[in-house]
Amino acid sequence: MRTLLARRVRAGLWWVAALAVAAPAMAQTPYAGPLFDAHLHYNEEACARDTPEAGCPLPLADVLVRMQRNGVRAILANSRPNEGTRVLAAAHEQTRAAGVTVVPFVRLYRDRTDYGNWFRDESIHQLVLTELARGTSAGPYRGLGEFHLYDSAHANGPVAQQIMALAAEKGLVVLAHVDDTAIDLLMAHTRSGAERAGAAAREAAEHGGQFHLLWAHTGLTGTPVSRVEELLVRYPQLLGELSYRPGLTCDNGQLCPEWRALLTRYPDRFLIGSDTWVNQRWLDYDDIMQGYRAWLGGLPTGVARRIAWDNGARLFGLSSHRP
Ligand SMILES: [Zn+2]
Repeated sequence: MRTLLARRVRAGLWWVAALAVAAPAMAQTPYAGPLFDAHLHYNEEACARDTPEAGCPLPLADVLVRMQRNGVRAILANSRPNEGTRVLAAAHEQTRAAGVTVVPFVRLYRDRTDYGNWFRDESIHQLVLTELARGTSAGPYRGLGEFHLYDSAHANGPVAQQIMALAAEKGLVVLAHVDDTAIDLLMAHTRSGAERAGAAAREAAEHGGQFHLLWAHTGLTGTPVSRVEELLVRYPQLLGELSYRPGLTCDNGQLCPEWRALLTRYPDRFLIGSDTWVNQRWLDYDDIMQGYRAWLGGLPTGVARRIAWDNGARLFGLSSHRP
């Protein structure tokens, strides 16, 4: 009897072992459609010129090849200083040849010292107004950011308030690297801008220019999923960008269960991004995009397509360019 039981236990264990071995073979097929990179920097140290030379490790042709070979068909582009974005926006022939649509954003930083002070620096407000008036050769700027707030109380800084009101008034998208407390504070500052805009905002909305707050990393400090959901429900204009988000993926690079559930419940509210904030991220660009494709492949097809491409395309009115 004991021998029979032991044999059955061994048989059971054999099946467990067999399933474990078979698991990689059952891995998800990666998502194969277009990608919208909704968090891209082309910063000074990457280069922002089109000829390789000393101090230019990642010329324009190089970064475009990286996008093209990864099926990235549109980018939310911003840079420190804004010259990198202007170079991308001006490279019509090269970006068209690479099949990449550039959606330009105004960065709030001239250099690294602006990261910690922009929210109370009137010269940054002026920089934004000047840059918006100038536009790019790929058309008007569509948003502001990425900006950072390392202390959520700084969301109440005078320039932070002006920037949020301006975005609401002009129908711009804001890319913000902030914590969940700052989301509430920043959203409160949009009311005055929305009221000031009135009919103009409604008209802008009809042309795809509608204020949204795109939350870079969707809670980099590990904001609980329940809190992320609470904010999504409270603010219909809040979207989440998923680079660096802790706890997003689990086994085999697939989504952790609570994130899979959240993305499936709110398929219109999330985007993916590379966050090429340092040059190493450009060197890792293939791996980053393959990582996204792996977990997108584990989602229902329609959900994957929306997070990968449709949400960004709709946000900026690119539907006519749909690949
Ligand atoms: Zn970033």
